Amino acid sequence: MIENSSDVVVIGGGVAGLSTAMQLARRGVSVTVLEREQIGNGSTGRAAGLLGQLRGTAEHTRMLMDGVKIVQELEEQAGTEIYVQTGSVRVAETAEREKEIADLVEMGRSIDFDIAPMATDELAKRMPYMRTDDVAAACWCPTDGHLQPAELAAAYHKVGRDHGVRYETSCPVTGVLLDGSKARGVETPRGEFYAPILVNAAGPWSHLVAGLTGTTLPTAALGHVYLTTQPDPDHPVDRLSPGFRNRHHRIYGRAENGGLLVGIYAEECAEYDMETLPPDFDMSAMKARRDDFHLAMLIHAAQQRFPWINERTPMHVTTGIMTFSPDGLPFCGQLPDHEGLFYCSGFSGHGIVQSPVIGVIMSELILGNRSTYDIASIEADRYWGVPGFQERDEIEQRCHKMQGSYYGRLEGKSADSKTDTA
Ligand SMILES: Cc1cc2nc3c(=O)[nH]c(=O)nc-3n(C[C@H](O)[C@H](O)[C@H](O)COP(=O)(O)OP(=O)(O)OC[C@H]3O[C@@H](n4cnc5c(N)ncnc54)[C@H](O)[C@@H]3O)c2cc1C
Repeated sequence: MIENSSDVVVIGGGVAGLSTAMQLARRGVSVTVLEREQIGNGSTGRAAGLLGQLRGTAEHTRMLMDGVKIVQELEEQAGTEIYVQTGSVRVAETAEREKEIADLVEMGRSIDFDIAPMATDELAKRMPYMRTDDVAAACWCPTDGHLQPAELAAAYHKVGRDHGVRYETSCPVTGVLLDGSKARGVETPRGEFYAPILVNAAGPWSHLVAGLTGTTLPTAALGHVYLTTQPDPDHPVDRLSPGFRNRHHRIYGRAENGGLLVGIYAEECAEYDMETLPPDFDMSAMKARRDDFHLAMLIHAAQQRFPWINERTPMHVTTGIMTFSPDGLPFCGQLPDHEGLFYCSGFSGHGIVQSPVIGVIMSELILGNRSTYDIASIEADRYWGVPGFQERDEIEQRCHKMQGSYYGRLEGKSADSKTDTA
């Protein structure tokens, strides 16, 4: 075998690339993962780590149910405990949202997802630190939970390594080698790496990696922020308190170290031009200013459900960059322009929870098999050549709009589009 050659080169060592590499290696494929910085320090290292399985469609919910099973198997294989099963609730305060929850309970039950309506007094008992007097309806998903994304990345890395995956860090891909329109390998400052199959799993940078072959990938890099309160004896949050989603106020969260983590999909968010960030940009070094407009929106929204949270509450603030697509769904598979060049990107704020099953789907596609899942909605070529999705400006506008409506829109039967977000 030529030095630096393998069956597959994965570009990007976040959860998407790591899960794909691990699943391929388990199927006997030789894989090299090339990471520009360190493993897991893109979006993956910034994530809140919620694993909510309930989505707007049965197929996507089913995928995430399988994903949780994969995480539990991974715990055994990696010999480590990762998943904290706390259960999660969704709360509704308007008639529309009440109907949305009823629809989702019906959908979940139709596919044997463990879900049930939850009475408000039960909700108040489980989450005494949450305002419940204005809650009209809630549902309970006992098998949901959360994890520390760094631990998930480490488990993918360990099991991948045990199956022979080669990982190269501080190794940015700067060029793509082609034989006509067929993938042949990549260029890096550390030399060329050869493989007939390349996987672009470069997260917020993936449209730049696509640009190396002149390909348009309709993703945008958008900011996200969450806060974590310090433990407060007046509002204790048990380690196993349920996760929550409150789409009316656009917030989600979970317990963290005795405090409460609350994040927001606000109408407005920051945009990043990945091209202008320094080559050694480290997402974990991002800091939010206390007077930041997006943080102010988050605190205001959090206060609607947790009235004890305000600007003076001792808290830690985390900001990071997500990779949004125009419909909030990822891109998995090849595009018509190059053979052997696969995409695995655009996870729109849900890449941690999607990564276990995405690794399976990517490995099926790369091995030339039909996926065991219905992947029509996440196929990479769904915007190929579609007017309005080709120029950076229009792509960014559309992704921004999707982020703004991510929690704003209704799901279930009441939903007005195919998109699902949870
Ligand atoms: C603040 C925040 C909170 C979040 N909370 C959640 C949550 O609760 N649940 C959930 O499911 N998801 C959450 N997410 C989303 C989740 O983090 C992402 O969807 C997921 O991490 C995407 O993984 P990835 O592998 O696609 O991208 P990344 O983790 O960004 O990995 C891409 C990697 O590619 C590398 N790379 C880029 N360019 C190159 C190159 N040219 N050569 C080599 N390597 C390259 C980068 O350095 C990076 O390490 C959150 C995200 C943020 C920012």
